[in-house]
Amino acid sequence: MLSLLPDYADPLRLCSLGKAYEGAIPLADLHRLAPLLTSTEGEAAFVLAFGKDAEFGPTVRVRVRASLALVCQRCLGAMLQEVDSESRLVVVSGPDEAEQLPDDVDPLLVENARLELRSLIEDELILAIPPAPRHRPEDCSVKLGDVNAGHEPEPPVEDDGRRRPFAALADWKSDTENQD
Ligand SMILES: [Zn+2]
Repeated sequence: MLSLLPDYADPLRLCSLGKAYEGAIPLADLHRLAPLLTSTEGEAAFVLAFGKDAEFGPTVRVRVRASLALVCQRCLGAMLQEVDSESRLVVVSGPDEAEQLPDDVDPLLVENARLELRSLIEDELILAIPPAPRHRPEDCSVKLGDVNAGHEPEPPVEDDGRRRPFAALADWKSDTENQD
């Protein structure tokens, strides 16, 4: 299937032709994404559908599905992030055109009628990575209840000179929370 996806193409031409590509690409071939992953094993399944939108003209629909190996920001353990992401991009030839688009439509800036098609897949995956990826609560080795304890207002403590062994722990928890 991948052999059907050209490396470079003029997206306006593909939109005129109503071209669509479907296939899978190894994650290891996506060189901007790869450094963000703990493992590049596996593939990303994609659909790229070029066409003409009645309102915006030439558009590309990008759909990508993949399992990305990331580091959980709560427990720092390995995790798999399931990504199933879809975007609609409007082909524009310059920043002025891009500014005229509504906020909920993403521009695809194309210069010299030449676009690296796999960059559409790669950008979609990179944008789908959460800023602070985390396990689901039941899968994480740091339990959510422990972390949330840092949010609860602490009862007033009179400084009577006794040691408060949990004070340092509470500080640590709130520090951890603040990193989110
Ligand atoms: Zn975790």
